Amino acid sequence: MSKYTPTIGLEIHAELRTRTKMFCHSRNDTEEKRPNVNVCPICMGHPGTLPVINKEAVRQVLRIGVSVDGDLADYTEFDRKNYFYPDIPKGYQISQYKFPLVKGGELTGVKLTRIHLEEDTAKSAHDKGEESLVDFNRAGVPLMELVTEPVIHDAGTAAKFAKELQLLLRYLEASDANMEKGEMRVEANVSVSAESGKFGAKVEVKNLNSFKSVEKAINYEIERQTALLEKGEKVIQETRGWDENRGETFSQRAKEESHDYRYFPDPDLPKLFINEVPEFDKKSLRESLPELPWEKRQRLGNEYGLRDETVEIFVRDSKWGRYFEEVATELQNRELVNIASNYIVSDLKEPIPVKELTEVVRMLADSRLSSRGAKDILRIISEEGGIASEIASSRNLIQKNNDEEVRKLADKIIHENEKAVNEYRSGKQSSLQFMIGRAMKESKGSANPQMLKKMFEEILR
Ligand code: ADP
Ligand code: MG
Repeated sequence: MSKYTPTIGLEIHAELRTRTKMFCHSRNDTEEKRPNVNVCPICMGHPGTLPVINKEAVRQVLRIGVSVDGDLADYTEFDRKNYFYPDIPKGYQISQYKFPLVKGGELTGVKLTRIHLEEDTAKSAHDKGEESLVDFNRAGVPLMELVTEPVIHDAGTAAKFAKELQLLLRYLEASDANMEKGEMRVEANVSVSAESGKFGAKVEVKNLNSFKSVEKAINYEIERQTALLEKGEKVIQETRGWDENRGETFSQRAKEESHDYRYFPDPDLPKLFINEVPEFDKKSLRESLPELPWEKRQRLGNEYGLRDETVEIFVRDSKWGRYFEEVATELQNRELVNIASNYIVSDLKEPIPVKELTEVVRMLADSRLSSRGAKDILRIISEEGGIASEIASSRNLIQKNNDEEVRKLADKIIHENEKAVNEYRSGKQSSLQFMIGRAMKESKGSANPQMLKKMFEEILR
């Protein structure tokens, strides 16, 4: 065991999916490709304009807070975070400092510090010729920031947390949270400590655009910082970027240069007394929650006894999740639902009509179909469509479960395979398998292998 302990805390931003921006009536549309279309004097930071709080954005953050079991603020306010940059024309960003909307809470066993609400900045482009350009479509989009406690100790746990948060935001329809589109942005604070109970200097890693980069960047930092400590050198507290192509972090700015933001309450915005707003009532917020990812996981596991990997597919992929539930409702039988779930996960590329899948499962369960036959029918329906029962008959896939037919088939195989019969009689079990195989082939897969086995054993006893 290494004597160096890594510690990680995450800061995650997500753009909320509201109709309008955080403090004005400009549209909030992350899909808009034309620059500077969804803008107005407020989100462009013109002097003399007055911001107005977007109630729905506040409500979304409170819902997120309720779902992670955080403490909702009674009193909250918005603060100005002062700094200069071309993408922040007011000279400050409206954010929250002392009174975040949510404090505490927990997700995937990781303790949360806070969740607050702020506005996104505009987007600078430095790669469009001589000049730098600024697009204000994003300026003023409601942005939630979630901060975790420094309680994570490996990269995998950090990535798992970020994935679960993304899933939660999607379940709540609070954010689309696509990392590659910048709708969700993860910053990882990483430190390595040589002494137990004492933190090392922390490094903040930015520009993490995928869960893979989150994991790779954290591992890179743990190794880099550990190597420094092993050489007896110091880790510098700084902000670093992640270079995806090189697979390395690089220094962006040292802590010494970091800003003093001079936070102060924004005098243009009213203070909020959460309890006085009916839409923010905790009970109605809770009632507005859909089934949450971890609740769904537990229910699918308990109700149907599905395997964890199968459950995870249905929890993460809403299309397949909904399809599975329709099939399950139709089948109303744990064993059949299990069979269906396996076919959904391993044999279907697109959903087929629920009626056809359930029919195939029922035919299989009554031994009217072999599992080979069932797979064939599912493939045919996927490729060409059609009705399960009709395909089964027209392609001769209905199993021969009739004693008389199975006996005839066994007799024929015994007649044609004298050598195997003799070997089986002198004790070679594999010869029985051989004969069953021949019979299955002869019947083009339509015989029931269990019945054939019994029949052979009976005739050759
Ligand atoms: P700052 O004042 O630099 O913003 P905070 O205390 O607000 O620092 O913490 C910001 C983030 O850094 C949080 O996610 C927190 O969990 C994380 N963090 C704090 N200390 C450490 C540490 N020693 N190692 C790793 N992460 C840390
Ligand atoms: Mg911070």
